[in-house]
Amino acid sequence: MARYIGPACRLCRREGTKLFLKGTRCISEKCAVDRRAYPPGQHGQVRARVSEYRTQLREKQKLKRIYGLLERQFRLYFYKADRKKGVTGDNLLSLLESRLDNVVYRLGLASSRKQSRMLIRHNHFSINGKTVNIPSYLVNIGEVIEVREKSRGLLPVLSALEVSGGREVPSWLSLDMAQLKGEVKTSPNREEIVLPVNEQLVVELYSR
Ligand code: SF4
Repeated sequence: MARYIGPACRLCRREGTKLFLKGTRCISEKCAVDRRAYPPGQHGQVRARVSEYRTQLREKQKLKRIYGLLERQFRLYFYKADRKKGVTGDNLLSLLESRLDNVVYRLGLASSRKQSRMLIRHNHFSINGKTVNIPSYLVNIGEVIEVREKSRGLLPVLSALEVSGGREVPSWLSLDMAQLKGEVKTSPNREEIVLPVNEQLVVELYSR
């Protein structure tokens, strides 16, 4: 699957907010948003005209970048969310949150979604005892996600646990730190998803 391989910090600077794409660096003083709080590029410091379309586009880009998706994948999630019952924006966030790479990150078993994707791809996680190496796998209620026995001493997992010590596990998940495993208790709802994004603007953008 195609993916963005350019500099991650550039994306945060473009959106003017921390998207937490690089694990420990994001909470250090090296964060590029803290050091250079203006968009990247030659015209980064030129004041851009604010239009309704621009605002909606930026919200969409932000959401897409937080979850590390490209346009086509993101659009498919939107269509899926739109077909489901309920509020499209809420459905969209719920779908994105249910991705396995996000769940591993939320549980604190990886320091970023990118690292989580890499660990999943390398067969370090199992769901209900079966190895799953698909980062886009959508978890279901009751499923148990754990670090496989042979991968328990992995440095990235151990350092992620150290880094995420202060990060709160959302209430729709539970974590057994000693066993390095977590369970999906309920489906994520909007109130529990803390993101610097107005998903309604994304819906408006795609409804144009
Ligand atoms: Fe974004 Fe993290 Fe880079 Fe800061 S360090 S700009 S939050 S990716």
